[in-house]
Amino acid sequence: MNATTHVLLIEDEVALARVLRDYLEQAGFRVSVAYRGDEGLALFERERPDVVLLDLNLPGMDGLDVARAIRRQSNVPILMITARRDEVDQLIGLELGADDYIVKPFSPRLLLARLRAVLRRVQGSPPTPQRLRVGDLEIDLDAHTVTRAGEPIRLTPTEFRLLATMAQYPGRVFTRSQLLEALGYRYTGYERTIDAHIKNLRAKLEPDPKQPRYIETVFGVGYRLRKPTEA
Ligand code: CA
Repeated sequence: MNATTHVLLIEDEVALARVLRDYLEQAGFRVSVAYRGDEGLALFERERPDVVLLDLNLPGMDGLDVARAIRRQSNVPILMITARRDEVDQLIGLELGADDYIVKPFSPRLLLARLRAVLRRVQGSPPTPQRLRVGDLEIDLDAHTVTRAGEPIRLTPTEFRLLATMAQYPGRVFTRSQLLEALGYRYTGYERTIDAHIKNLRAKLEPDPKQPRYIETVFGVGYRLRKPTEA
């Protein structure tokens, strides 16, 4: 995460809230704390945190009502904290839009792991750049276009997928079955089709396909896209 992630913790057990706040701050989060449901909701509306940790049983306003009120105005990830495992089924049944649940007692470490998992799910993981640059190749993953030294190169969707897969990790060797998998094949036995696609890709990409500059055959293993420093 580039900016500091802001966590709103709504928990009426003061000692627990303090432990969690300290732990999360140590982990690099910014933490706001409310000890009542109604105060938590007000704080949410004022501060617009990135994620909410919400205890179920709260004075002032019930955790479920807080979650519903938040959901009406935001898709912020909500991690519910409950004191009883049997409440979890109830919570899921209510479909109130919480992203995950954690049952007391739990370790701060577990909470941190769950929190990170929720954030990853929401933010998408891993963050992939829209454009990959490898030497003078530029691959636009959204537009599905490739240029070499600024000149457009027309590829089939399969050729594009192969190139984009290797371009995510220049220098890394991909086996034929890994490349097949990247193309969406679920079964092995088609490894040789990769060779055919690579041949076509080279014909379009390489100034001299007989002496490939970009895509290297790694004998007995597979293929790799050379790092710019090697090209
Ligand atoms: Ca409580």
